[in-house]
Amino acid sequence: MRFIARHRKFFNVTIAIVCILLFSFFAIRTITSGGHEVRTQVYTGIAMGTAIKKTIYAEDITVSDRVDKMIDETLQELENQISVRKNNSEISKLNSSYVTGGTNKLSDNVLQCLEVEIQVWRETEGAFSPCIYPITSLWGIEEGLAEIPDEALLQERILSSDANNIEVVEDGIILNQENMAIDLGAVGKGLACDMVKEQLMQTEIRGAVVSIGGSILAYGDKGDGKDWHIGIQDPRNQTGEVLGIIDVDGDVVVSTSGDYEKYFELDGKRYHHIFDPITGYPADNGLISVSVVSDSGLLSDALSTACFVLGLEEGMNYVQEKGVEAVFVTSDMNVYVTKGLKKKFRLKSDEYTLVK
Ligand code: ADP
Ligand code: MG
Repeated sequence: MRFIARHRKFFNVTIAIVCILLFSFFAIRTITSGGHEVRTQVYTGIAMGTAIKKTIYAEDITVSDRVDKMIDETLQELENQISVRKNNSEISKLNSSYVTGGTNKLSDNVLQCLEVEIQVWRETEGAFSPCIYPITSLWGIEEGLAEIPDEALLQERILSSDANNIEVVEDGIILNQENMAIDLGAVGKGLACDMVKEQLMQTEIRGAVVSIGGSILAYGDKGDGKDWHIGIQDPRNQTGEVLGIIDVDGDVVVSTSGDYEKYFELDGKRYHHIFDPITGYPADNGLISVSVVSDSGLLSDALSTACFVLGLEEGMNYVQEKGVEAVFVTSDMNVYVTKGLKKKFRLKSDEYTLVK
């Protein structure tokens, strides 16, 4: 008894330490097992005319399934608004029946897209055009046409693609010329990523990677708090082959534009679906792909297309002005990255050279 009394203090401290250790052990186990319980569900499909892949990290499959359906509905709704290939979409109706010089009311989404596009048009001095559809539809590359259009017709279409003739008013736009047509194809997938992100923020899921054609949204984390590793498509290899990897934290979008998505070849020359609105021809400046990382999907998608037309030097300057990061790939197989990505980009293909 005297021994116990004498050593009570010692026993009390020992018991306290053991208790703390046991508590910590269970606490760590709980967190660790919580981490392991985050399940990965992958869903694939087609929407907005492109391949969709959703990797959802949630603690419960029923939650992932619900989120998957929610995303599908959003993409469907957006497609019904902005597709130029659906006769009843808001954009198709605008294009086929706008009144020249009159106000055409638009939904918030469409107007928001147009405003960003018009800003990019202004900043790039016309390398990007929100009303490029007269040119894209004449070439018809996405519809499978494979010939160079008549030059006189092309010149007419270039005049119809001049965004100087668009005026934004409070709840819509005025088109001041006949035969114009809006094309939101350059930003649609990025906007979709932004809309999906808004929705995910309302759910209890831990993280997700949602890829919508060339735009990839990284959201939250896998449950481990670590960066996401986003693969950039190798522009000269099969779909799925990776040129390099960008490490990003949650809540950014990486959009890629390249000459390999939709194209035809004639006399050894490649004609693809991203046009210089000034020449009316596919951009031909030595770039084969541009990826832009931004916390705005809309901006990353607009800038990837715009920079593809601007070329390496002007494109580099432009992304730096806009404060976003980018990867440029040239036809001589060189890869250039902005300063902020130097430590976050890893080249994976030995067919390319990373220019320091
Ligand atoms: P994708 O849609 O294939 O992922 P992009 O984001 O680069 O690739 O968008 C390409 C689309 O943008 C074209 O299909 C066309 O609808 C549109 N587009 C092409 N050239 C331009 C341009 N100079 N300015 C604005 N939009 C363009
Ligand atoms: Mg784009």
